[in-house]
Amino acid sequence: MRLIVVGAGLSGLAVAHTLQSIAPQIAVHIIEKSRGLGGRVATRRREGATFDHGAQFFRPIDDAQQQFFTHTLPHDTLIDIAKPVYAFDATNRISIGDSAQNNEPKFVYRDGISTLAKLLRPASVTLSLQTRIQRIEATTDGYAVYSDTGALVASADALVFTPPAPQTIELLQTSTIDESVKNPLMIGLAPATYRPCLSVSLLYAGVFDPEYYALVNTDRGHPISWLAVEHAKHASRVPAGHTLLTAQLAPQASRDHWDSPEATLYATVASWVQSLTGHALGEPLWGDRQGWRYALPDGRADATAMQAFELSHGLYFAGDAHTGLGRIQLALTNGAAVATRIATHAGARI
Ligand SMILES: Cc1cc2nc3c(=O)[nH]c(=O)nc-3n(C[C@H](O)[C@H](O)[C@H](O)COP(=O)(O)OP(=O)(O)OC[C@H]3O[C@@H](n4cnc5c(N)ncnc54)[C@H](O)[C@@H]3O)c2cc1C
Repeated sequence: MRLIVVGAGLSGLAVAHTLQSIAPQIAVHIIEKSRGLGGRVATRRREGATFDHGAQFFRPIDDAQQQFFTHTLPHDTLIDIAKPVYAFDATNRISIGDSAQNNEPKFVYRDGISTLAKLLRPASVTLSLQTRIQRIEATTDGYAVYSDTGALVASADALVFTPPAPQTIELLQTSTIDESVKNPLMIGLAPATYRPCLSVSLLYAGVFDPEYYALVNTDRGHPISWLAVEHAKHASRVPAGHTLLTAQLAPQASRDHWDSPEATLYATVASWVQSLTGHALGEPLWGDRQGWRYALPDGRADATAMQAFELSHGLYFAGDAHTGLGRIQLALTNGAAVATRIATHAGARI
């Protein structure tokens, strides 16, 4: 059986990783539009600094997943961030955070959270990067997948879609899959709406070393929803004598500043950061931005609708649109569950 996985985020990689161990006879081809693996689990490097501009850390959902991170996968650069997450409100008042949550692990990797994606990549998988799937054609024996240049990328018996739901809907719309199949799928995906997030990283000269690793806005009244101190993950993340802070803007602030010129955006965020931390940070030496149009899901796709054409048509869906919560650990378990169904169905087809 030949399987195409659209997207090399954590759910797509979990599908491939799981299939490699439970159904190695399935030939998996992952097709990803970006230059690297990981999707929203992303790390950037700039002038000696390493920072995560998407997801910040992950937390095992149970002992088996904890074992997977700390034993099954290589773990020599795995870090449990020691400092806690504190809370803040619309008036910049900072308070001790949720102690129960702070007692749980906050895992990341020394050289960037995207290491997790590299560790999950199965050796046997075929991988096409920088290839955006634009259209899927149903053929007599499966599916043919075309890129945005119009080129045929690959053919397969079955497909797994992992992009955020609105992007998967766009892909289904342009595809020549029977309306009686794609229409109920698009309706099933519709409840999984997403909120945007503009992530802004600022490098400062001088060391700011608060007792917290990060601050989270708990009353949703502040333009910043999350502020992280990068060197609290590992000293090697930031050049000595410097501080790198990553601010994730709240949904409305993200929309308001989406198209702001970089200099204006960095000055605005720096003034918010200054007021929030209460620390004289000075002017940032540089800033970096990443806009995530589909950052975190607010709803969840209809599981019954999404699983209706798995066995009959070989159409599968994975990712956080199907968990309803933007969490790495859930994207992993969801991808593994989808892989288990694919393996079972592949057995049924033989
Ligand atoms: C700013 C931010 C902060 C977050 N913080 C945390 C956190 O601290 N902890 C946590 O657990 N989670 C966090 N999350 C959520 C977490 O990152 C996601 O829930 C998880 O990574 C989703 O994985 P996925 O595989 O479902 O989707 P994605 O990572 O979005 O993967 C989908 C992949 O499909 C690719 N793709 C899309 N369209 C196409 C196409 N047409 N052709 C080919 N490829 C395509 C994309 O490029 C992408 O690589 C955060 C997310 C964001 C954006």
